[in-house]
Amino acid sequence: MILIHICCAPCTLYPIKFLKEKGYPFKGYFYNPNIHPYKEFKERLKALETLQKLKNFEILWDREYGLRTFLENVFMVKDEPEKRCEICYTLRLKATIKKALEIKAEAFTTTLLYSIYQKHELIKEIAEDLSFQYKVSFFYEDFRCGFREGLEEAKKLGIYLQGYCGCIFSEEERYYKKRKKELLKS
Ligand code: SF4
Repeated sequence: MILIHICCAPCTLYPIKFLKEKGYPFKGYFYNPNIHPYKEFKERLKALETLQKLKNFEILWDREYGLRTFLENVFMVKDEPEKRCEICYTLRLKATIKKALEIKAEAFTTTLLYSIYQKHELIKEIAEDLSFQYKVSFFYEDFRCGFREGLEEAKKLGIYLQGYCGCIFSEEERYYKKRKKELLKS
């Protein structure tokens, strides 16, 4: 069985379709201390609960709001996105591996490999290192090829689509980018 770390509902649609079509047994694992603020965290949890009902698959949940865990880990590098994201991916993938060991899953993977907005090569590198370190197989697939398909289905199903990656820093960056665009237009 493959334990698939789930970052959010829309990013889950294509990877689980892929796993189902290939006939690989899998379970989802929701662990994302990087989603802030609390209202947004609840919104994404709710969206995944809706998706779970629609697609009928098992998910192991960590419903704790992890703001403090996240900040303790990334605060020193909060203004350096490369370092911040590396710590964030490691945090989530390490928890996934530990859960995989706990439930005796044969391998792990992540829906982070689906988004064209994530640092794909960095995620792959971290997962490979952790796989070697913890002796749990990493199921690698470049799910980005299904990005458009997954997005279209999420829209069709009315699944909540978030406007930023997750952390409060990425939320701030979104507004800076928006403001820059507006200034360039004027
Ligand atoms: S931008 Fe996304 S991947 Fe990077 S630290 Fe924030 S939540 Fe994590």
